[in-house]
Amino acid sequence: MDLVLNVADHYVLTPYNQVRREIKYAMTSLPVISIPTVALFFYEVRGYSKLYDNVHDSPLGWPGLFLSMISFLLFTDMCIYWIHRFLHHRLIYKLFHKPHHVWKIPSPFASHAFHPVDGFMQGLPYHIYPFMFPLHKVLYLGLYVFVNIWTISIHDGDYRIPLALTPAINGSAHHTDHHLFFDYNYGQYFTLWDRLGGSYRHPSALLGKGPHDLIRKLQAEGKLGEDRGKGRGSGSKEE
Ligand SMILES: [Zn+2]
Ligand SMILES: [Zn+2]
Repeated sequence: MDLVLNVADHYVLTPYNQVRREIKYAMTSLPVISIPTVALFFYEVRGYSKLYDNVHDSPLGWPGLFLSMISFLLFTDMCIYWIHRFLHHRLIYKLFHKPHHVWKIPSPFASHAFHPVDGFMQGLPYHIYPFMFPLHKVLYLGLYVFVNIWTISIHDGDYRIPLALTPAINGSAHHTDHHLFFDYNYGQYFTLWDRLGGSYRHPSALLGKGPHDLIRKLQAEGKLGEDRGKGRGSGSKEE
């Protein structure tokens, strides 16, 4: 029952200007994060990394590109899991990661709303990889776009991962529970490291107990007025 009360509390009391605040925070942090990030990109493309231009530069040809795609996702998923867990350490959390957890039920606009140190640290694995492993430049660009889209998608609490994939893939249902319950589901794409690290939590949304389920229930019972129900992330179709 405390889940229900917590969720109701956060849903109803979350300020209506949440999205505007998320955008504002991301817009102030991103320029700061981009300074060291662009510096790293320069090092990468100016020949200091293992990036290459042509498929025949790959030690394994086309299969090498496919393998580097898989290993990029596995490597960055592992690194982000541990960096994210580190950012939740009680001595670190308030300094850098707390601003991202202001939003208990985040919108996609929260996906880039990080303290600059937090944002840079969680983006670091994407830049460590090409210094350690060979990677095609165009594939790198594609993966970089993909991870940004993925980050946006896991902050949209609409739970659209196919049900069969939910045991292995860390979707928005998992990440919504991370924002709600704090020390579970630190992962980025996969549930692997949460399972190995003992922090996996089966998403409440997949048990029919997610925040959207609660709002629908409260609305059906007439306990939420139309205006209050339209608070951020009501999950109803009018949004
Ligand atoms: Zn977190
Ligand atoms: Zn988040």
